Order: sequence, then C-alpha cells, then structure tokens
Amino acid sequence: MLNRIDLRGIGADRTAGLLPRARLDVSAAVEAVRPVVDGVRDRGAAAVREATLRFDGVELTTLRVPPQELAAALAALDPPVRAAFTESIERVRRGHTAQVPVETTTTIVPGGTVTQTWRPVARVGVYAPGGVAPLPSSVIMSVVPALLAGVESIAVASAPQRRTGRPDPSVLAVCALLGVDEVYAVGGAQAIAMLAYGVAGECAPVDLITGPGNVYTTAAKRLVRGVVGIDAEAGPSEVAILADDTADPVHVAADLISQAEHGELSAGVLITPSEPLVSTVDDELARQAAATRHAERITAALTGPQSAALLVSTMDDAVRVADAYAAEHLEIHARDARALAKRVRHAGAVFVGTYSPVSLSDYCAGSNHVLPTGGCARHSAALSVGTFLRPVQIVEYDEAALREVAPHVVAFAGAEDLPAHGQAITARLSRPTAPVRPELRGLTPYGAPQLDVPVRLNTNENSYPVPDDAVAAIEKAVGAVLRDLNRYPDREAVALREDLARYLGHGLTAGQVWAANGSNEIQQQLLQVFAGPGRTALGFTPAYSMHPLLAAATGTSWVDGRRAEDFGLSAERAVAQVVEHRPDLVFLCSPNNPTGTALPLAVIEAVLAVAPGVVVVDEAYAEFARPGTPTALSLVDTYERLVVTRTMSKAFAFAGGRLGYLAAQPSLVDAVQLVRLPYHLSSLTQAAARAALAHAESLLATVEAIKTQRDRIARELTALGLAVAPSDANFVLFGQFADSAAVWQALLDRGVLVRDVGLPGWLRVTAGTVEETDAFLAALREVRS
Ligand code: PMP
Repeated sequence: MLNRIDLRGIGADRTAGLLPRARLDVSAAVEAVRPVVDGVRDRGAAAVREATLRFDGVELTTLRVPPQELAAALAALDPPVRAAFTESIERVRRGHTAQVPVETTTTIVPGGTVTQTWRPVARVGVYAPGGVAPLPSSVIMSVVPALLAGVESIAVASAPQRRTGRPDPSVLAVCALLGVDEVYAVGGAQAIAMLAYGVAGECAPVDLITGPGNVYTTAAKRLVRGVVGIDAEAGPSEVAILADDTADPVHVAADLISQAEHGELSAGVLITPSEPLVSTVDDELARQAAATRHAERITAALTGPQSAALLVSTMDDAVRVADAYAAEHLEIHARDARALAKRVRHAGAVFVGTYSPVSLSDYCAGSNHVLPTGGCARHSAALSVGTFLRPVQIVEYDEAALREVAPHVVAFAGAEDLPAHGQAITARLSRPTAPVRPELRGLTPYGAPQLDVPVRLNTNENSYPVPDDAVAAIEKAVGAVLRDLNRYPDREAVALREDLARYLGHGLTAGQVWAANGSNEIQQQLLQVFAGPGRTALGFTPAYSMHPLLAAATGTSWVDGRRAEDFGLSAERAVAQVVEHRPDLVFLCSPNNPTGTALPLAVIEAVLAVAPGVVVVDEAYAEFARPGTPTALSLVDTYERLVVTRTMSKAFAFAGGRLGYLAAQPSLVDAVQLVRLPYHLSSLTQAAARAALAHAESLLATVEAIKTQRDRIARELTALGLAVAPSDANFVLFGQFADSAAVWQALLDRGVLVRDVGLPGWLRVTAGTVEETDAFLAALREVRS
C-alpha cells in the first residue's frame, strides 16, 4: 500500500528533496478566504452570519452559545465519555505543570539584576475543528495549558452543525468541564476573523488564537497574524515510524492507519533498514484498513504521495532521515528505543516503544497533541504553557551598578553615533556617591523616628525617669572617675562583669559574662566572631530588625526564617529551617520584638540540638516576662554554643547609658575578645552602669507598673475589636488595619508616636505610664471613630 522510496545508496544528509510530503497550498486558500476575513473586519456580525449560512448552511441568531446549553450538553454526556474527558483533562494538566516556569533573578553585577518573569496573554481564542471529525480533545489541549499559564479570558469557537445550529455537543460538554462558558457557534475563516477583530456587541477581540483547523482556517490565521498572535499554521497530520526488525508489524500498521484516519491528506511514513518489515507492514495495512470504518479515507491517505516506506541502510541513517523529515509525531519501535529517542533533534513529539502509540497521546498520555506539522518541527514546538506566556525581563540597576558600566554604554552609543544614548547615562551620574560595599548598597540605616512629641511609645524605652536615689549614686560614681579620664578604662570591664553576673544569678561568674555598648554592639561582636563573610545567620521573622542589618554590616549572609501565622515558633518549625539552612549563627528572640512572643525552653533546646553553630537568644525584654515564662540563662551551663544577650536599655531605664551584655560559657566569651575594640566601654559607662546595678531594685521598681499597662493595653485593644499578639515584653503588637501607615500618622497627629515595624496591617506600642496609656487609647479611639 505504501510507496517505497529506497534511500540506501544516498547519503543520509542529501535526502531532503526525496522525502514524501503533502503539497498544501495555503497561499491559494489565503486568496479564497480574504473576502470573508475582510468582511468580518469591516462589517462584523452581519458578515459572520452570511459566511456561516454560506459555508455551514446555518442561520445564526446569536453567535454565542447560551451558557445553559453547555451545562445541558455536559449533563447529557455518556458517563464513560465524561470519565474519559475528565481523565484526559487531569492527565494533560499533570503533564503540563512542569512547563510552568519559575521566576529567576540573575545578578549581572552587584546592584544590577535582570529578573526573568512570565506574563500570561490576557485573552485567548481557541479554535476547535468541527468538520470531518469534531475534536473536543483539541479544546482540552489548548485550554488546559492556557489555564495553567494564568490566562483570564478564553473564548472557544467551533462550527455549527447543520442539524442543530450549535457546535458538536462533545465540544460544548468539554467546554463546560473545563469551566469555559464563552463558546461561539462559528467556524472556519469567519471564526478566526471574529476572534481577531472582535464583533461589536457579541465578541471581544482576543490577543492570541490557538488550535488546529483545516486549510481555510490556517489561511485565515495567516491573514490575521500581526493583528493577533497565532500558535502555528497547522497542516495535515503526520506520523513517522522509526523501526528496526524487532518492530511488531501489527502495531506499526495500526498506528499508520490511525493517523490516516484524520483525512486523505494525512501522512504515514515508515523509516526502516528492514525490507522484510516493509513487506509485512504492507500486508498488515491491507488487512487492517479493509476492516476499519473509514477505509476509503485511510487508503487514500496511505497511498498518497505524502506517505511512503523509506528504506535506509542503518538505524543511524534512520535517525538522520527522521531528523530531515521532522515529523509531527515520531514513533520509535526498535531495540534501544529510548536511546534513539534521545538522539532525535527534530520532531513535534517522540513516542518511545511499542506501548506509547500516537493515539494514546491524542487523548490521555498527558502530553499535548497540537504539534508542528509539515517539517515545522525544525523551528517550532508543541502547544504548551509557554504558548500562552510572554517572557518579560525586569531590569533593575542601582546607581553604583549603572556607574560601573557607564563607560561601556557611552562607548557603545558613540560607536552607533547615538550620543544622546550615552548622555542619558551620564546625566544620572553627575552626583558623586560613596564607594559602599555592594551588600550594603540600597540598605536604609536603622531609624526609628526620634520626634519631640508628648507621648513617645515607639522604641520600647522605659517611660519612667531614673529615680532620684539612682541618679545621685550615678552622679557620685561618674564624678569619682572624672579625674582618671586621662587613663584608658579597664578594657575587660571586670568589676562591671562581676556585678552583672551577680545580677543575673543562675550561678554565673564574670568569666561567663561580657558587656558592650548596648546589646546591639554585643550582637555585632557575635556576628563578627561566629559569622561574617562566607557564613550564614538565620533569624525567624518578624523579629528584631537590627539582626539582618548587623548581618549585612558584618558581611554575613542572612536567611529569613519564618514564624507561623500567629507569630509562634514551634520546635519542629524552627528545627526544620535550621536543618535546611545549616546557619553558623541562629537568632532566637525571646520575648520577640516586635511580636512580644516568648519561646518555651523546649524550642531553644531543640534548636541547640541541631544547630551546627552558635545560638543567640536575645532576651532584651526578659524582665517583663509574665510569670512562668522561662529565661535561657538556666541553659548556659549545659550548652557550649548558647549565648544569651541582655540589655539595661529596657527594664533598667538605662537606654541612654548604652549597656548590653551576654552570658555564655567562657570559651565563647574569650572568642569575643578577638573582635572587641580596645577600651570599647568608657570609664563613664562602666561607672554609671555599676552604680545603676547597685540600685537595681529601685530602677526595676517600675517593671510591674509597666506590665500592668501592657496587659491593660492588650485588654482594651481586644475590646476595641483589634487583634493583639500576646506579649511577654513592654510593648504590644496590634492590628490589623487596612492601612496601618495611615493609623500611625493619625496617632502622631494626636501627639502619640507608636512604631510602624513594617509588618503590613500591624503597629507596635510601648507600654509606659498610666497617663501615656490613657493618651494612646484616647487617640486610637478617636482615630477609629
Ligand atoms: N534586642 C532587641 C530584641 C531589641 O528590641 C533591642 C532594642 N530595641 C536590642 C536588642 C538592642 O538594644 P540595646 O542596644 O539598647 O541594648
């Protein structure tokens, strides 16, 4: 049945002109459909109706199929067919999910990035052939990838049947299954023109048209290309079968026949070095074709000039010939079929082995069946999620990165005699900038507003002034060292560390304590010794905003770990992230700023058990913890890699004194000495802090009053219907506001300064004096009324 073409004496590279191919004259069809396409463009619905009457014999009332008819078609569908449609949709969805691309940002230079994103086409027109064989499967093959790509608007067009005036019920039913409710009973060139130009009042124009059709729809697509995008010009369907002497002639023949069933122009090509196979396949073709429903069509297709058996010398030649033919479908029935498949360069899709026939992929393989025909597989590909996406590159350079490349751009512009291009660069760079380290570029310094307003509740200071007895003691202590300011201070601050150890209790000694100018400096020193360039620190955001900034300043890579929605941090959650990122330093902030959340010791111990490096528990607010909330100080003796940091800035009312400290095992304290600046703590600071510690009882007397205000704020905000994070600190995080920045400003306008911590919807307020709480609550009530 097949024509035989013997390519054995001919170099496999010189076969191109000898390969069988259907001659399809799209250009002639273009002239035939031009009046129809122009008519729809110029006269809209009237021209669509005329063409439909002329070509389909149907007088259309509305072009669009009423949506309830789609549901009715689905309800009337045979259950086994419905199950098959559903299975096909699910498999195609699964098979195409891998095509959904991920956004990637490439750092071209520090401060200069190109982000590769994809944006879906907004509106797509899907053409579903309704002629010789209505193909609901084609609707699935376009709509599923379009939906995965994120296309928001999909219109399907398919020719009306003479009897019903509607598209084939199977097409309507599959649209209903896919959730597409915009279906037009319009086919052929008029459908393509309607989708491309739109029809006033009936169909909005689309941006892209996909789906196979006959030569007239292909011609119409060629005409409207440019007005809209099109997927490809589909020609008659074709299969090439690459086979050796192990191929089963029954399977080969069945697949050639199934392809020929599409129409007389369909092509079946067998490429093989086995002469006996050609003969047995031919016998099988004759036997099987006679027994099928569409025998006439099939015989015409397989005996046509587009179909043939190509005899080659070797399987290597067979692969080369298959590449030259660039089949829409390429089946491989041979030893090592998978290895051969890997060598194929040009094919719309490749089907490996005897159990992967094309008809499987027409419906249910999970792959796409809209494929490039007529040799277009050399340059085009199957319909895919990518068909419905446009890659968009987002370019973002900062000033330093632009400055660095500016000479090249200017030189290039000069070479192209386009000097204004160069000037567009130099005009931006006349201002000098500091040559800042790349990882610091674009960062904003820590900057809680320091505004002179009556009620300042934004930095978690202690609102109560230092009591008189402490003031007198500090004055005296500072006075006593003034004369010795000619000398450097004790660079190891031994006496102060002894006092701090005594204050902390838990059996700690001066050798386990270290002090610096605020716990900020302590934490910077910890990052300098235990993290730094090439190392990683992990914190669980939202947490203290200085942690990532200090990481950046010390050249440490920062990993933003995540808390749960309610700001909690379970042991499993924390451990999983530590195990994943293996950070050199972990920050656990407890009670956490800005949420107020404290961590159970079990979470800290779980992290200590898996952390490869140092674990820093930031306890800046420990003194405000509610009864029963533990401190990690009790673990210091047990864990060699644990550091607990504390501060006198909060409970001690000593923020201006700048004194923070840590407790850890002596080996860690010794390590920190490597990075401390000589004499970092002035004699004044040391003297003042020691005097304050000696009056700890009096300084800490306000803690209970502050906790009372904290609990009152939490209660009253809850009563106002606001969300409040449970707090063990001297502040409360509350929300959630549609526009927290506006609430922040409105409070400030009323003289109350709270903190916008950059958590959308939330604000943080410090618990201070009774009067401050009164003022804050009154202002907030006013803002909300
Ligand atoms: N840790 C936390 C959690 C904080 O909130 C703060 C200050 N807001 C600090 C450390 C630093 O405090 P200082 O440097 O004043 O000791």
